[in-house]
Amino acid sequence: MPELPDVEGFKRALTKNALHKTIDRVVVSDARILGKLSVRAFASRLQGAKLIVARRHGKHLLAQVDGGGWLTLHFGMTGALEFVRTLDSEPPFTRVQLDFANDGCLAYTNKRMIGRVGWVEDAIDFIAAERLGPDALDRRFNLDAFKSAVSGIKHDVLMDQEIMAGVGNIYSDEILFQARIDPAERIDKLAPSDLKRLFLETRKVLNTAIAHGAGSEQFTERMPKGSLLPERKKGGHCPRCRSPLKIFKVGGRTAYCCPSCQGC
Ligand SMILES: [Zn+2]
Repeated sequence: MPELPDVEGFKRALTKNALHKTIDRVVVSDARILGKLSVRAFASRLQGAKLIVARRHGKHLLAQVDGGGWLTLHFGMTGALEFVRTLDSEPPFTRVQLDFANDGCLAYTNKRMIGRVGWVEDAIDFIAAERLGPDALDRRFNLDAFKSAVSGIKHDVLMDQEIMAGVGNIYSDEILFQARIDPAERIDKLAPSDLKRLFLETRKVLNTAIAHGAGSEQFTERMPKGSLLPERKKGGHCPRCRSPLKIFKVGGRTAYCCPSCQGC
């Protein structure tokens, strides 16, 4: 399930391989991924154009088109973005493909079709329309901004994209584990020191995942020792104290936590 670090990985792949190249051909294999936008309208914005800059906000990836507007990519549950060097090796479940003139292609894959590819005129308007809060790694979103954003909030703040964009189920578990906070704990009941730790661990966990290649396959195995991610499965154990992890429903999601380290 792509979250901020994974989408950052896609952004880096796009930036490295797909900028400033002429898009020769636009192939949409399943028009449902475009939502209300027609294939024709979408293709006309990209055909013959170049992507000139990539930008990420939370779990959304945007790429500016030199002819105007932005390509938007959201990955839902199973989406990914891959640069393919030879055009004859299209990855499975490719829904949208941008072919570059004699220079590989960018393939948006999505097995379960939850997610969206589109084109918008303005990136800032798009972020506002999606009701996204500040990106979790935005430097301006500092501890004070975090504290005021979560003040008075009773529900799960880490995953609320309107409060802070980028964190989902998986990284929420990792952040709470590193901060030693029970996932069922109400944020408005946290001591100021816990809140500060939660904020700092949010930054640290997301940056660590990016540094270890989030977005590529099997990257969780490469996460540093002491990470919850590789153990986040049935029968998993706490990387710190080896207690069996507890799996339970909280606020409509499944959380993994260590009963002895997090008191859950
Ligand atoms: Zn433990």
